[in-house]
Parts: sequence; structure tokens; C-alpha cells
Amino acid sequence: MLPGGRRDPWRALVSEFMLQQTQVARVAARFDAMLARFPSPAAMAAAPVEDVLSLWAGLGYYRRARSLHAAASQIVARFDGRVPSDTDDLLSLPGVGRYTAGAIASIAFGLPRPLVDGNVARVLQRLHARPGSASEPGVMRWAWKQAGLLISAAQARRVPPAQVNEGLMELGATVCTPSSPRCGECPLSTACLARATGRQDRIPRPKARAARAELTLRCAVLFDTRGRVLLHKRPSGGLWSGLWQPPTHQALPPALASLPVVGEVTRLLTHRRVVMEVRRGRKPRSWRAPAGSVWVAPPDLATLGIGSAHRAVLDLALNAPMGTPRPRRR
Ligand code: SF4
Repeated sequence: MLPGGRRDPWRALVSEFMLQQTQVARVAARFDAMLARFPSPAAMAAAPVEDVLSLWAGLGYYRRARSLHAAASQIVARFDGRVPSDTDDLLSLPGVGRYTAGAIASIAFGLPRPLVDGNVARVLQRLHARPGSASEPGVMRWAWKQAGLLISAAQARRVPPAQVNEGLMELGATVCTPSSPRCGECPLSTACLARATGRQDRIPRPKARAARAELTLRCAVLFDTRGRVLLHKRPSGGLWSGLWQPPTHQALPPALASLPVVGEVTRLLTHRRVVMEVRRGRKPRSWRAPAGSVWVAPPDLATLGIGSAHRAVLDLALNAPMGTPRPRRR
């Protein structure tokens, strides 16, 4: 959870949604703007989801932005506009999983609820010398049980649950790191079974990395006589669901395939390497734009929900020197 997200449940919820699968530094740059625009669940619920997507641009995993907007609407409709403290109520909100519910309940509301993320699971596995990988359901079930026992023990000693949960997460992030844990600096080293048996580098078992599949897409950035760019919305579901883009296909229709290539944008997603070939030119008369397409003046592009990959495509097409197409890679 971001420092500014602690204690205030709405800030905590926004912070957790933004941090899922995204680095802290990237989120920190957007967090204040998101809270300034949407200081409460009611403010977000009253706005179109487009506004949330627009502020989310560049963070990836846009389904989270849609879930956050849907969660805000439910908080207004079902909980009188206040983030609930009960774990089951939190879990009933779109996009809220067990970890996020535990984080909000324990850190924002101070309730004795456990949480387990990858860092916490690793610390607990090493403390108990529990073998296996955190990607195994059995290991995660075990970790949640251990985290619950720790919270109960802390409660008996009047230690705040937020202190326990934040301490475990911090330890995993800074000292008990995936490789080369700094056991000499660890406050738990005397209680750590993995260290006592010299297995801290083998627990947890490293995940076998699946090779990233490569996906090649071809984008056509089309202009009208006023220099506006043609965009349309991607369908719901799948990659970049519901975001705006220039026409993008695995194989462009012939009328667009003859436009000159101006460069290439590459993006590494979790399971895929996406290579986007970028073409630029006037919209051919013979080509019919997808339903719902709009012409957008370049200064207005910043106001639309456009993913970072397509923003890079548009930047490339808008800034490439006219009349000097770049050579194609292949
Ligand atoms: S002693 Fe080492 S392996 Fe054990 S919890 Fe601390 S940093 Fe992790």
C-alpha cells in the first residue's frame, strides 16, 4: 500500500487496485492525480468509466480500472458511499480479492485480519522451511493459515495487526528478497528454519518461467485533411479491452497495408511479447472505418483512455518525419 493510502479506506482501496501487478514508482506518479479527481467513491461512481481509464493510461491491466469504477458504484449503492470494513463485504466488491480485503481491513480499519502476498508467503515459507512454490495452491493455503495464526498471536499481545502485516510485507520486499536474502540484517534470523538449515536460497522453489509467445500486430495511424487521427474502441474482453486505438490487426486490409511503415513499437506483457508495426497516411477512400470511429485532434488524445502501447504507436506516427518512411525490420 502506498504511504498516502494508509488509514483512509478509500485511498487504501484505490492504492491497492493501482498497485496490483504494477511497480510502486509507476503508481506513485498517478496516485495523487487519481485521488484529486476522485476523492471519494461517490465522485468516481458519478463519473464515466472513461475518466478513470484516462487517468489509468500507462499502468496496464485496464480491467482493474473498470473494476475500481464498478467497486465505487457498488460502495455507493450498497454501503452508503463508505468502504466497508467487513472482509466478506470487501470480497463482494468487483476486483477485490483476499489479499486486498485483508489489506483494507487490517491497515485501514485496524482489524485483526491476515494478508498474504508473494512477499509474505516467501517470508513465512522460509521461517518455517516450508518447501514448494508460492504458485502452488497448497502452499498458499498453508501461508494464509500461518498468517492468520500470526495475527491471532499478535492480537493476544496487543500488537496492531497493521504493524504485523506491513512488517511482513516490508521484510519480504527489502530483506527477505527472492534471491540473496540478507539474513545478517533480518530481525527474525534466530527464528528462521530455512536459515538454520542453509536452505534460504532454495525456499521457495523458483517458478519455471514460461517462454513468452510473440504477437505481431499492424497499426494504421490515419489522418484526415485537418490532421486529426482516426480512433475506435477495442471490443470488451481480451487484450486492451475497451480502450481507444488506431486500426490494429494481425493482417491489415489491403487498402491499409499499402501505407508506408514508419517504425515499430515493442511491448513485453506478462505472457506475450507484442511487436506493433506502425503505418501512417491519409485514410483511403476505399476503406470503411469501423463503426463508432471518431476523428481526434492530437491535443485531445491525452483525454482519452488509450493504452500505453497505442500511445507509443501514436507518438511514433505523429513525430516521424513526413515522407521518410523507416525501413521495416522484416
Ligand atoms: S533469516 Fe533470511 S531467510 Fe529467514 S526470514 Fe530472515 S531474511 Fe528471510
